[in-house]
Order: sequence, then C-alpha cells, then structure tokens
Amino acid sequence: MITRNSPVSVLPGIGKVKAAAYAKLGILTLGDLILHYPRAYENRGEIRELADARPDGKSALILTIGSDPKVVRLRSHKSFLKFKAFDDSGVCEITYFNQDYLKSVFPVGSVFRFWGKVEQKGKRFALSSPVAEPWAPGVNLPPLCAVYRLTDGITLKQITKDVETALALLAEQPLSDPLPPELIAKHNFLPLAVAEEHLHRPLDKDDLEEARRRLVYQEFFDFSLGMAFMRRKTTAPTAPVCSAGSLEPLLSLLPYRLTGAQERVISEIRTDLAKPVPMSRMIVGDVGSGKTICAAAAIWTVVQNGCQAALMAPTEILARQHYTDLSALFSRLGVRVALLLGATPAAEKRKIRAALLSQNPQERIDLVIGTHALLSEGVEFAAPGLVVADEQHRFGARQRAALAEKGKNTHLLVMSATPIPRSLALILYGDLSLSKIDELPPGRQRVDTFVVDEGYRERLNDFIHRQLADGGQVYVVCPAIEEEETAPDEVDFSGLFDPEPAKPPLKAAVSYAKELAVVFPETRVGFLHGKLKSAQKEAMMASFVAGEIGILVSTTVIEVGVNVPNASLMVVENAERFGLSQLHQLRGRVGRGVRKSYCVLVTGGTADRLGERSRERLSVMRTTYDGFAIAEKDLQQRGPGDFLASSASDAVRQSGELSLRLGNLAEDSLLLTAAAQDAAELLAADPKLQNHPLLVDRIAEATGNLIS
Ligand code: ADP
Ligand code: MG
Repeated sequence: MITRNSPVSVLPGIGKVKAAAYAKLGILTLGDLILHYPRAYENRGEIRELADARPDGKSALILTIGSDPKVVRLRSHKSFLKFKAFDDSGVCEITYFNQDYLKSVFPVGSVFRFWGKVEQKGKRFALSSPVAEPWAPGVNLPPLCAVYRLTDGITLKQITKDVETALALLAEQPLSDPLPPELIAKHNFLPLAVAEEHLHRPLDKDDLEEARRRLVYQEFFDFSLGMAFMRRKTTAPTAPVCSAGSLEPLLSLLPYRLTGAQERVISEIRTDLAKPVPMSRMIVGDVGSGKTICAAAAIWTVVQNGCQAALMAPTEILARQHYTDLSALFSRLGVRVALLLGATPAAEKRKIRAALLSQNPQERIDLVIGTHALLSEGVEFAAPGLVVADEQHRFGARQRAALAEKGKNTHLLVMSATPIPRSLALILYGDLSLSKIDELPPGRQRVDTFVVDEGYRERLNDFIHRQLADGGQVYVVCPAIEEEETAPDEVDFSGLFDPEPAKPPLKAAVSYAKELAVVFPETRVGFLHGKLKSAQKEAMMASFVAGEIGILVSTTVIEVGVNVPNASLMVVENAERFGLSQLHQLRGRVGRGVRKSYCVLVTGGTADRLGERSRERLSVMRTTYDGFAIAEKDLQQRGPGDFLASSASDAVRQSGELSLRLGNLAEDSLLLTAAAQDAAELLAADPKLQNHPLLVDRIAEATGNLIS
C-alpha cells in the first residue's frame, strides 16, 4: 500500500539516482515531497501579446506555429531546432537546443501556450527554450504553475510531474483530517488533503489563498501543541534559593560602571534567584549592550550560595571567548571555571565531569562553560543552580527542550541579541519573563554602513588597503564555505506571482580567501568556517586577535559574540542572502574599540532588478542602528526563521527542529493567534489529546518523537 511514508522510489521513473537527488532536498518519502511546498508561482494565466511581453521577466503567450521546425546540426553532437510562431501582434522565432525530438511536436497551424522570456530586437521577437503546452479553445490550462526549490538532477518539470503523481496516488487513501471538526467548521477550512493539493495546483489566486490559510493555520497549530507538550514534560517544581551574598566583590573588579539598564536587569535576576521557584528569564539586549556581565552576576550569586552553574554558547569560538573572559574575572574570586567542548580530550572530560560531581566544595567546579554539546556529554552536577544559554536564538527546538530538561530543578537564564516577538516567545517558552537592556554602555561609536554592488569593488579594495595601512583589521563574511555549496533557499512568498530570476553566484570563504591574498599582498589573509577542526579555528582566531592576520574571511561562525577591538571594517559579501538581524549582529563585530569603524554590505550581481530590490531591503541598515527596530523589520520581511534557528550555512542545524514552511509570523499573525488560542483550549479540555490521536502522531513526527 502506498502511503505518505512510502519512499519516492515508488513513483514511476524514480530510480536510485533521482532518489538520491531528491534526498539532497530532504525529500525521502512521498510525504516529504508533498511538504516541499512551492517557492513561488508562475502566472501563466495572464496571456500577453508578443508586442506587449514583459521586458524583465517571463510572459505567457498563445502562439500559432507558422513554419515547420528545422533542425540545424552543429559539430560536437550539438544541434538546435528553429521555427516561427505568431500572434496578432507579431512573429517570433522559437529555438530549442539539443532537443531534435521536439520536431514533430510543433506542426504548422497548431497552437500552444508558451511560457518564456521574449527577447526583442527591433521588430523581431525571439523565444529560447520556452515551456510549451498544447492549447485549444475550451482547454483549461492551469493559470498558476508552482515553482519549487530544485537541485542538480531534479528539474521543475520532473518535480511537477512527481508531485502530481504523488497527489494522485495518495488521494486513493485520503488522509483523515487531524484537526477536530469543530475547528474546521469554525474557521471554514478546506480539508487538509485538499488544501495540500491546491497549494501545489491552485485553480486561481483565491483558491491558493484558501489552501495557504488552512496550511499556515495547521502549521501554527501543530507548532503550538508541540511546544506545549515539550514544555509540559520539562516544567520544574523547585530550584535552590540563592539569596545570600553581595555583588560588590564582582563589581569592584570591573574597569567600568554598570549602566542603569544592566543594574535593573541584574536586580530582576537576583530577585528571581532568591525564590524557590525556578527562574525562567530572558535577557534581550542589542549587540554590545553588555549581557555577559549580567550573566556573570547571576553565576556569582548562585556560586556564593553553594550552587553550580553551566554556561552554554552556540559556537565553540564563543564558548572559548567566554571562558577566557570569565575565568580571568572569576579566578580572582576563587570561583573554579572549566571549559568543556566536543574537542576536549576524553581524559580531560572525565576529570571535569568528576570535579562537577565532587562533594568537596574545595575541589568542585563551580562553573562549566561549553557549547550545546554540554547537553549531550552526560554532564551532571553535585549542586545544580543555574543554566545560562547565550545567544539562545541560535539553539534549535530540540536543544531548547533538552536545556529546559537540564534546568529542571535549576534556574534558567537565556540571553539574546535578537528580540523575540512576544507572540513567538509565548509559544516557545510559555511564561518566560523578559529583561530588556535598552541602553548601550557610554562612548560607543556608530558603525557607518554602506550598501554597494559589484560596481564598487575597486573602491572597496582601496578602502581595505587604507584600513590595513592604518593598522586596522578587516572581517569579510561570505555566505558559503565552498563554491558548490549554495546556501539553502528559503520558501519565499514575497515574489508569489513573480518568481525571481537566477540568483547571483555566491562568494565562498575558502576560494575567496585565496583571491584576496593576491589582491592584498601587504597582509596575511586567514579563513574561518564551521567545518574546520576546532584547533584550527582556535589558532586562526588567535592570530586574528593577535593582529597577525589583517583580513579574516569567514562564514557566519563569527556572527555571535566574538570580540576583536582592533577590527575596524566588516565587509559582508552576498549581503542579500542574510537577514537584517544577522547583518546587525555581524556589524556588531566592529566598532568595539577606539577605531572609527565601517560596515560595507556588498550585494551580488550588478544593477539589475534583483540587485535593486536587495539594496532597497538592505538600506534599512544604513539608517537604523537599533537592533530592536531592525528585528521588527526583519520579521516583516522574512518571517520568524531567524528567531527559530539561523538560516545561514553555519547555523546550528538540528533534526527535529520545528520550523515553519509557510507561515510568516508578521503577515499571518491573526492566524497565529487563532491557532495558538485553539491549541490552548484543546489542551485545556484534553490535556493528553487522548481524543485526538492523529494530532499526537503529527506532533510526534514534527518534533522528531521528542515528546512521545
Ligand atoms: P553582548 O551584550 O553583545 O554580549 P558583551 O557582554 O560582550 O555584549 O559586552 C560588550 C563589551 O562591552 C565587553 O567588552 C564588555 O566588557 C563591555 N561592557 C559591558 N558593560 C559595560 C559598561 N557598563 N561600560 C563599559 N563597557 C561595558
Ligand atoms: Mg554576547
């Protein structure tokens, strides 16, 4: 029997090779294929005349074949097929390459709907390799054709056909709708299976909107239930009361005075810690607002009360930096700090684990710092008091759940530079208290920001030469590590009826570093990315900190937390690929010292339409320096992706991440609220969803069986 769990190889014509290509898109089963939602739609229903074709994109045309196709052979087994076709406004020459078999498809006098970009030279029109569908009066060709994210070996034609076949096969065993009938009636929804079909093959725009409305709701609904389940499993009854001690010893070591905002946040934290109820608090503060010292104050408070703390960062680089900074501070207070990374030698790990469990307070490690690997390293504490997660938005849902589990009888503090919308925070954390640092330490300078395209390259290089000559250092951030690796496309509904032209090529860190080494012989050029060995990363970062490397080419591994005060210029290549919040984080890497600092965002390609659009989007960065305002814009532009897990290539990737395929938190906020409310009511009436086994299955699947 064919089900959604059947492998794609049950489809006719899908063998090992095609199945492997599908796997690259994350499509293993028919269900995955159905959930590979369209990226956009081609509006082939809007028929234009040749003379009136779009100058900048593809058009749909109804043309009559006017001449017999001729095959022209070239050397080296190449050939092309040429014929003429016309409508009332003109005649067009149509060409196909290496497809001689099409010769018999286009007899003179037959009519087709063509879809392609019309080139015009004087009064002559030309179409190259257009999509052709036989047309006759009364024939209903679909007006909207889905466009999908593709990969090598999977063409649009192929996936369109396979989706169609899969939908037809699955229609034989229709999916029972997981949503309670009352809710379907209340919102006047299409059945789920129908909505899925219509999303792939909409009859018209209204039909598409209806399908999308149902699926977005379902997504939010599943998401709300899933998060509620995960949270419930991990809610904690009590945590140690940490009310003794004073902050003075810690504060007296600082070379600066706390800002008013930091003082307020720290006192909120200390009030929480003094209660037997586990703290669940998030510090939100812009890059450089000084969140770390607030966490240090929390850690110090807990340690003074005889308890231990764990601090987790999303990358090794950041974990090391925290270790360097905090152990310098805490060693003067007699607090024992250890660093535990995936790369830490096994013997060392064993020693640290033992010291964390030691009953002797003189030997016991008070603070362990690491990456999320801490969660999976089987770390146990003799006297657990506090778990701190830095830059929490980079952690996946599974890690968040594990984190809460770890923090069962402890206090939990999470820190983020990305302000999380209230609605989303509620879904993710339930009742999480927020502390805002809305003030930067005094004397911070503004990082002047420019948005430019390839045409500016030479001037940019001159500028880099000058920064280097001045003794400054430069970050260059690329979206990919190696050439063949393209950053994943997001499901992009902004161009719903107007698919994007091909994207500009990506700058890749490794090869780009080599190119730059030639352009800038006066300095050393290093590179850094997530796939390097941990020791290599550390060495590279250390040379950059020490000033031995003038230009550091990197992927977004340096996005969070890294502190090199001498760095004065941040260049981001293919900046169009990044979310605004992410760019703001990257920009926060410079302007940390006394040097006047700059950020240059380079968009790929040149002054074409796509470039124009990216520059417009990015121009917010020129005028806005407030992370909160930028996050708001980001949410409007890109949806919640960045809040859930970063989409850049080096992001901490998680299986079992609950990510949104369709929904956009900003645009669909009404659906989100409705779905969250409905989910809460359903759970109140039936806490274990005993009457809704289909929903339980769905959530279990979406969360990687995390909740079962
Ligand atoms: P973030 O909020 O981005 O994590 P950090 O905690 O790393 O910021 O702080 C950024 C820098 O600002 C650090 O070098 C830190 O020592 C410094 N800093 C923090 N608080 C203050 C303050 N009140 N006055 C001056 N410098 C501060
Ligand atoms: Mg930080």
